[in-house]
Amino acid sequence: ASDLDPADGARARELDPLILHSWSKHGSTNPFTVARGEGVRLWDYDGREYLDFSSQLVNTNIGHSHPKVVEAIQRQAAQLATVAPATTNLARGEAAERILSKIDDMAAVFFTNGGADAVENAIRMARVHTGRAKVVSHYRSYHGNTGAAVNATGDARRIGNEFATGHVHVFGPFLYRSEFWAETEEQESERALQHMRRVIEAEGPSTIAAIMVEGLPGTAGILVPPPGYLQGLRALADEHGIVLILDEVMAGFGRTGHWFAHQHDGVKPDLVTFAKGVNSGYVPVGGVIISERVLETFKQRAIPGGLTYAGHPLAAASIVATIDAMTEEGIVEHAAHLGADILGPGLRELASRHEMIGEARGRGCFWALDLVTDRGSRVPVDASVVASLKSSLLERGYVPFTTDNRIHVVPPLVMSDDDARRGLEILDDAFSAL
Ligand code: PLP
Repeated sequence: ASDLDPADGARARELDPLILHSWSKHGSTNPFTVARGEGVRLWDYDGREYLDFSSQLVNTNIGHSHPKVVEAIQRQAAQLATVAPATTNLARGEAAERILSKIDDMAAVFFTNGGADAVENAIRMARVHTGRAKVVSHYRSYHGNTGAAVNATGDARRIGNEFATGHVHVFGPFLYRSEFWAETEEQESERALQHMRRVIEAEGPSTIAAIMVEGLPGTAGILVPPPGYLQGLRALADEHGIVLILDEVMAGFGRTGHWFAHQHDGVKPDLVTFAKGVNSGYVPVGGVIISERVLETFKQRAIPGGLTYAGHPLAAASIVATIDAMTEEGIVEHAAHLGADILGPGLRELASRHEMIGEARGRGCFWALDLVTDRGSRVPVDASVVASLKSSLLERGYVPFTTDNRIHVVPPLVMSDDDARRGLEILDDAFSAL
């Protein structure tokens, strides 16, 4: 990292107050300074090296600066850097083709700028397709920061943004903190489905356009759906003519060790939202994957929505290169291996030795450590504990993803076995030092 100049770091920090950062009070944050990235490593302007166990916002699935993706963006920029959405363009068509090749029985793609507007447009499609308004989603969820997406969100970021109507929330399954007095995954699944069924009946099934859940809820704590839950939602949606939207923005594109998280459960959604891992965020992009059934509606009438940058050529070229590299290099299979052989066993072993780790859960490169004051009561630790762990990890050269009372262990899927083991050692050390 010899190309880095500490003076640039000082200048970057000096200019930072010109930016109002997401979800924060102006001037209240002291963001981590990043100058350069390669694979699973990041450097600050002083040349300090870090292992990225956050994948930023869980999006750099292919790691930083993957040469094949960088080269594809450069090539496309030299040929045609931007073009109107209503034109036909090879990169755009190939991006759709690559995406559809990783999921069965889907017919077309609608491109957006990122995850929130993917959710926004999926909800719009479900409403137009059904002629109904309501969307049922989970309290423990995050779906993005725009109008309908933030109102569909279940977590506290919804509050303060509740200007859209037609949003209903339910508790989804989460055995470790069960709302249903369940003692097994099977009970949790069955009772959460019964709760969903009762809410749909009470709201009036003919008023509900969509059930929307994350393929594997991420920000809410990596809540692996218990057996039968997603299939149960599919059956409920079919029973009442409701559209099933699976939000795969965070869990999709290899994160869980399958191309899409819902493929672990063999369920077939009507609409799938994606962003993040589709091109590891090298260029902002997202979209909706549409089933033949929903696409039929838009053969009869125009979709009432669109974006200047829908199917942006730089994004499209980066999608093609990302999916090709992931396929050729076996990156999704590697994510499954890291989860099954290194991260899963390693994190469970840490949980067995550190009282504070109440539970380690996840799959692939998508794990959470749920931190508690006491194993019996499972009371979450408070924010100051997580903040001090976060700074201790950063001091040790480990970039963590923290939220609420948890550390999410979510490295790029290209991490070597040795780097993953190194991360486990650093975690062990930081918990011991606490
Ligand atoms: N949906 C899910 C499941 C997400 O995790 C996120 C972001 O974290 C979004 C939607 C919103 O995506 P974006 O931030 O690209 O708008």
